[in-house]
This record gives sequence, structure tokens and C-alpha cells, in this order.
Amino acid sequence: MILLTKPSQSGQVDLVPAIENLKREMNAVILAHYYQVDEIQDVADFIGDSLDLSRKAAATDADVIVFCGVHFMAETAKVLSPHKQVLLPDLAAGCSLAESAPADEFKRFVDQHPDHLVVNYVNTSAAVKALTDYCVTSSNAVQVIQSLPTDRKIIFGPDKYLGDWVQRESGREMLLWEGSCEVHEIFSEQAILELKQAHPEAKVLVHPECPGPVRDLGDVVGSTKRLLEAVEKGDPTGTYVVVTEPGIIHQMERIAPQATFIMAPAEVAGNEQGSCTTCNTCPHMKRNTLEKLYLCMKNRSPKIELPDDILQRARLPIERMLEVG
Ligand code: SF4
Repeated sequence: MILLTKPSQSGQVDLVPAIENLKREMNAVILAHYYQVDEIQDVADFIGDSLDLSRKAAATDADVIVFCGVHFMAETAKVLSPHKQVLLPDLAAGCSLAESAPADEFKRFVDQHPDHLVVNYVNTSAAVKALTDYCVTSSNAVQVIQSLPTDRKIIFGPDKYLGDWVQRESGREMLLWEGSCEVHEIFSEQAILELKQAHPEAKVLVHPECPGPVRDLGDVVGSTKRLLEAVEKGDPTGTYVVVTEPGIIHQMERIAPQATFIMAPAEVAGNEQGSCTTCNTCPHMKRNTLEKLYLCMKNRSPKIELPDDILQRARLPIERMLEVG
């Protein structure tokens, strides 16, 4: 039983059944990104990557989408379901990667390169999507880039590390925006090498938002979905070093309860050990709590609103991406 005990707001409430009741009353669907805390993942209707979740919610007849993730993800859900109400438990749940591409700066960059196609990872605000020709996810980025005419130059944003990986995998040179994810760029190469030495049998699973030298240590490099598949198809009693946000381990443990998962440490300047196993936890994702989820449903706030022109224009690059495959 997880209780909310703030008399000023709601008295004592048993949160999980209260959330279930509200979900029925509101005809809501609860989405949880893989990086959410375990108790939120456990009450969600769907758990997954951001775009996958938004598409699943759009396909339901729910009136309300409660997105337990970060702000750009809830915006994407709104873009794909403009007539549904979209709630986000904590409006301050941002994303260092999405915020590394402010719409006005990105527009100036695009205007300086008018002969380039603009491709952006889904981790962008709706305003930046509205400046984009094609969106990509980490699962389909290589495929989308390979589908573009070879005589067209390409801008790729906002993640320079993902862009670098896509360049290598696709063989296409691109003009990269200088953005990054504060979580994935600080994994410690040295600590992963030591883990490989200590556990030579372990498979190293790396997300492509990590820098090249860290990616080069991976046995599998891919999206969270690809890393989950690697566990599903791998040794059910094996050892896995996980080089992405550790929230994913909750789903990995569900898939392979007998396996051992080791969270890769982050590099921390000034730390005696040189690494830290909590610094690679996304502080934005962890702003959402079960209590905030309950309160946002009860109050129907905070909710996501977007201007009509942004809603319509931001949908285009997602539709173009889906046409590719
Ligand atoms: S893990 Fe990185 S990309 Fe994902 S929400 Fe957090 S800051 Fe953004």
C-alpha cells in the first residue's frame, strides 16, 4: 500500500487503487516511459519508448492521456491525439537533450542551410518538430536516413552522439547539431572496461546516445527496445552491463528474472572513485512520482496545450517517418 498523507491536499489516500478509480472515471490511459520509477511502471497501461507510447495512446478510445515521462513526450502525445486531454504529472519534467535545441536557435541554424533536409530525433519540443522534415527514433534513425535521396544534404539534431552513430551505420555524412543527453554522455569508459574485466562473460548493452568510445565497448548498441530484445533473446541466467538510464532494468528483470543486471557507472569529476552509479539516473524522469500522478489525475492538471499551427506542422515529420517504415 502506498499512501498519500498530505491532509491539505487529499487526506490519507491509498494511491494505487485511487489511481485505478480515477482512470476508470476519466476514461484515461496511463503511459510510462521505461525510465520512470518502478511503482509508476507498475500502474501504467503501456510502458515503452516515447513515440511508441504516443501511438498506442492515439489508437485507444481514451479521453485522457496521462503521460508519465518528460515534457516533449507529452507534447508528442498531444500532437498525435489533438482531441484528447494530455496530462503530465510534473510540468517541470524537462529533458536536457530537447532543451539543447531551443526553437529560435534551431530555426536560425536551419535558415543558414536552406538546401538541407532537416531530420530530428523525437527528443525535441513540438516547436522544433514544426521546423523538421523527418523525425526519427533511435530504432529507425538509420533506416530513415538511408531512405533519403543521396543528393540531398542533411541536418541531424539534436543529439550529436546519436547523429555520429547514425553517420557510421548509414554511411551518410550529416551536419550535426551540438546537443546531448546529460545522462548518456557521462558514462565512464574506464569503469565499463573494469566491469568487462571483472565479468568477461557479461554482455554490454549500450544506447546510441552515448559517446563513440563508450558505444565501441558495447556488444549490442541500440534503442531501449533493441536492448530489451537482446535480453529476451540472450542467456536467461546471463550477466548484462546496462549502459543507459537504469529505469530500464525493471523491465529487463521482468523478462529475465534469473539474469544479473549491472548498472554502468557515470564518470564524475572530483569523485575519489572517479565514477558514480546514481549520476546516470535521469533527474527529469524521476520528477514524476506516484503521488504527483494521482494529483494530476484528480486535478486534471498540469495539462499540455499547443497552438493549432504547431500541432498541425509538428505532425508532418512524424507521419513522414512512419511512411518510411
Ligand atoms: S535520459 Fe536524457 S534524453 Fe532521456 S529524458 Fe533524460 S535527459 Fe532527456
